[in-house]
Amino acid sequence: MRLLIVEDEKDLNYALVKALRKVGYACDSAYDGESALDLYFKNDYDLILLDLNLPKLDGLEVLKKIRENDLKVKVIIASARTAVDERVLGLDLGANDYVIKPFDFKELEARIRTALRMSYSSSPTVLVCGDIKLDTNTKNVYVLDRQVNLTSKEFGILEYLLVHKDRLISNYELFTHVWEGAVDDYTYTDTLKYHIHTLKRKLGQFNDVEYIINKRNQGYRLRGNDEEA
Ligand code: CA
Repeated sequence: MRLLIVEDEKDLNYALVKALRKVGYACDSAYDGESALDLYFKNDYDLILLDLNLPKLDGLEVLKKIRENDLKVKVIIASARTAVDERVLGLDLGANDYVIKPFDFKELEARIRTALRMSYSSSPTVLVCGDIKLDTNTKNVYVLDRQVNLTSKEFGILEYLLVHKDRLISNYELFTHVWEGAVDDYTYTDTLKYHIHTLKRKLGQFNDVEYIINKRNQGYRLRGNDEEA
């Protein structure tokens, strides 16, 4: 899952990105409202963490512009503005949640998880497809109830495929939701292929099943319950 961290206090932005990467998210940073919008229009984000007091363009203006364009991306406002009116306005403008600074990182992380979960299920924290289980809280992955250790990229790929298990995911979409920064058009498919290869090997280590199906030039999806291995 890919996050955009919009925060003009550099130290805080840096600390958030560092902590969020550690728990498995791909993160980009923006330090003012205008560059936040630039990045938003350039990349696909699953969630945006948005400060309100920002240089160049206020956070609420940024939110308004985002919501004019798309209702799907999750937005959590993180602000020191505590006035109830401000909070209500933010939620009315389409923010999914609101955290007041200073906040506890654990709490922020839980809210991010909850907001991301709203897009794919009403309650479970465990994503399942056939023999594969992924616990979004503990970040543990199991195949046939045996734990499998994945790298953060492998985990990111599997999580995205599980969330969207009903459809084929193009190379580009998969890449932009798991990797940060600009996409290098010449090498991203090779990078993706390599990580899919190692992920496939780990998932199939107990029974030689190919759990990830590759449709040539179209993309990837997970093998469903009822499909022949
Ligand atoms: Ca600020």
